[in-house]
Amino acid sequence: MANLFRILYFLSAGLRRLHWDKKKLRKYQEKRLRAVVRYAYEFVPFYHDKFRRVGLKPDDVRTLDDLSKLPIVRKDELRLVEPSLLVSKQYDVGELKVLRTSGSTGKPFKFYISSVEDDWRKAIYLRANVSCGQRPRDKWVFVTSPRHFADTTSIQRRLGIFAQDCISVFSRTADQVKLIREARPDVLDGYSGALFLVGRYVEREGISEVRPRLMFGSADFIDVSARKYLEKVFNAPYYDQFGCSEVDRTAWQCPERVGYHMDVDSVITEFVDKDGNPVSAGEHGEIVHTSLFNFVMPFIRYSIGDVGRPSEDECPCGRVLPLMEVVEGRADSFVVLPDGKLISPRAFTVAMSMFEYYEGIEQFRIIQRKIDCFDVLLKIKRADLAESDMAEKLKLHFQKVLGFSTKDVTFNVSFVDEIPLSKTGRLTAVISEVARTA
Ligand SMILES: [Zn+2]
Repeated sequence: MANLFRILYFLSAGLRRLHWDKKKLRKYQEKRLRAVVRYAYEFVPFYHDKFRRVGLKPDDVRTLDDLSKLPIVRKDELRLVEPSLLVSKQYDVGELKVLRTSGSTGKPFKFYISSVEDDWRKAIYLRANVSCGQRPRDKWVFVTSPRHFADTTSIQRRLGIFAQDCISVFSRTADQVKLIREARPDVLDGYSGALFLVGRYVEREGISEVRPRLMFGSADFIDVSARKYLEKVFNAPYYDQFGCSEVDRTAWQCPERVGYHMDVDSVITEFVDKDGNPVSAGEHGEIVHTSLFNFVMPFIRYSIGDVGRPSEDECPCGRVLPLMEVVEGRADSFVVLPDGKLISPRAFTVAMSMFEYYEGIEQFRIIQRKIDCFDVLLKIKRADLAESDMAEKLKLHFQKVLGFSTKDVTFNVSFVDEIPLSKTGRLTAVISEVARTA
């Protein structure tokens, strides 16, 4: 019960902040920034060393403009550091909640969060949905990774307050639709790629009883035409959301859909050029986050390995949170299987993150060479893992989780020393070389 109250408390405070003025918001951000930097310096060995090496003391960071004095931290760097050095000395790693990135870049990473921080994260997440019209008792169906199934507490479920009804992204589209049909959601939410496939199925089969009032999509972006298609099929507005596993959702479309409001009272977002300097409005910049709520394992000037564009536009809705533009095309395309089934690349990366040896993998890439043939490249960080053994285990894992049969699809698993950037210059975990007709 305590958690639900805390989430609702954080939510109502977060909703109030949407109507603050800019000055008040900035003061709030700076106060939290100072607190997080001071805490990281005092209690987190990694940041203590990092700041000392550049000669910084917590008092040197007082305003948002001081952020640029701090070094940018990348996932590659954090992945090499022992968790005990990344987590506050005031906490025991074993008592914290562990979260994992879902691996859209093919580089696994796990991180830690306290239950209070987790409630904050959930409240900020809800704020966007509530702002777009979701109500506490709405029937809310979420097509996502099975890992999120436990995010709704039993109390929430019993009271039916912001209780997600989760459907696995791994299930076949027909099975997902069956469950959605039974649930009759007011709010249809989830990985946008999976929602798109649900929409296609619903239209093709002429199913009329799935009538959500609202849709939210995230994780693998579908383009504007696919969103419009979903709006047509379901006759409901579709709102896109942007984020990353480490700090959760960070930007979202409000009903005006002018841009994406950034949750800057929870996570500061900077857009920087290759030298770490801010880019101008409208220009592409590397996204760098500073979380104002993660103290247990802070993320200070943390690059998520993606790009976006800052915007100076004001949203007509009047919410104080500034806007960004999301760069389309992070989405990998859908993967088509021999039986014509389409699956979202996110299903592969999530499946990979559930593999028993995931933590022994430094980086991976799955390339669909032919419709029935996948190459799986693994850069391994543990010497005791044998290639043939891993190949066998991974094949079985994919078959089980993704529901493939060996007769239909082959996986060639090999260990490699290096995984280069994809042609688009992005670290892409799943690439299909098969021409699509979908
Ligand atoms: Zn707005």
